[in-house]
Amino acid sequence: MEKTKQKMTLTTKVVLGMVLGILLGLAINYSGLNTPDSFVNIYVVDGLFHIMGTMFITALKMLVVPLVLFSLISGVLGIGDIKALGKVGAKSFALYMLTTAIAITLAISIAVASGIGDGANLTTTSTFEAKEAPPLSSVLIDIIPSNIIDSMANGNMLQIIFFSILLGISILMVGKKAEPIVRGVEIMNDVMMNMVNIIMAVSPYAVFALIAKAISSLGFDLLASLAGYVTVLIIALLIHLLVTLMGLLKIFTGLSPKIFLAKMRSVQVFAFSTSSSNATIPVTLKTVTDKLGVNNSVGSFTVPFGATINMDGTAIMQGVATVFIANAYGVELGITGYLTVILMSVLASIGTAGVPGVGLIMLSMVFVQVGLPIEGIGLILGVDRLLDMVRTAVNVSGDATVSVIVAKSEGKFDTSVYNDPKAGIVTSSDMHIDEDVEKEFAKLTEDVHERK
Ligand code: ASP
Repeated sequence: MEKTKQKMTLTTKVVLGMVLGILLGLAINYSGLNTPDSFVNIYVVDGLFHIMGTMFITALKMLVVPLVLFSLISGVLGIGDIKALGKVGAKSFALYMLTTAIAITLAISIAVASGIGDGANLTTTSTFEAKEAPPLSSVLIDIIPSNIIDSMANGNMLQIIFFSILLGISILMVGKKAEPIVRGVEIMNDVMMNMVNIIMAVSPYAVFALIAKAISSLGFDLLASLAGYVTVLIIALLIHLLVTLMGLLKIFTGLSPKIFLAKMRSVQVFAFSTSSSNATIPVTLKTVTDKLGVNNSVGSFTVPFGATINMDGTAIMQGVATVFIANAYGVELGITGYLTVILMSVLASIGTAGVPGVGLIMLSMVFVQVGLPIEGIGLILGVDRLLDMVRTAVNVSGDATVSVIVAKSEGKFDTSVYNDPKAGIVTSSDMHIDEDVEKEFAKLTEDVHERK
């Protein structure tokens, strides 16, 4: 009985949810059932699917802050050495910046070579409001929280990371006396991981609902209308994932990219269906530590850090979009222009969080800098919702790749977990509360009440 239950892993179910969601979404879209006042649209797409999908994303977001807090504090306690911590920070920062710079350079090169956008029809009625890039000084200042409750309430990842590291170091400094807190944090970390398991149990249905809703309202026709842009973008994303990231993984660690990609599949599906690296943090962190063998002391830092500052897929979109719109408007950017674009996208990715649609805001910052017409963004606005899903999947893959490279180089990596196809797979028995444990707890609470 147990055996048949285990046959279909959560990953398989999640992928199935995605495929069925795409199929149903397309069916609704092409049958014309998606008109605003149709029964299907009101009660199923904007009703049931909307409720299921939003509840799930909200539940993931609910996990992010406490999960990052406890796992990062316990990570710092696990490293136990401030110098080693500094090395992990410096290495991951350098690799995140490097991969983003490679990503956008690759994107610009492919887009220039393909000549997309030449002679495009420029009449566009959509407008897009430009955002000024935050100055580097404020990006730096904003790393320090003035009120950590406020940072947590707003999910400001860099500030939470800063606070957790400082707290971890301070606990270490207290020494032996802080032992109960160390144990408490470790336990809370386990508790949070179980909470991730519970929410994940419903994920196949949520993924199904999210994707069916997105596809039914957008369809693939839109993509066809901008076929050149979409094709070049998808090709650049694939090359970056399969050649750049997997090449770096192989060169730096010697590990098999095939295993990496297989184990990352469900994380990519989550990123795809939520369009948010931030909301995907719980899944990325769990996969990186439990399935890929990265020690929590490294993963608890590199994953939330990467979700905030590393956006390879988004950088690729910016590269391709810049060339596309420059060509479409007949603007000659030249080498200096493109170098500015590269620098701007790398900097813009540091200060912006991985949430849906942020790529377009970053793009408007880049446009202001190089003097491209902001209204050009209107050209790609329609297809951006779907492409956001694809590039977010590449963003989280970059976070995980760097996590593995840094952990391996620091000796905080378990190769046997990486190579074990069954590692980290959650089974129904993991979700089970032991009867004896239940009885013990009941007795414990009774005792506590009596003592009162
Ligand atoms: N949605 C992306 C992310 O969360 C950011 C973007 O490209 O808009 O990583």
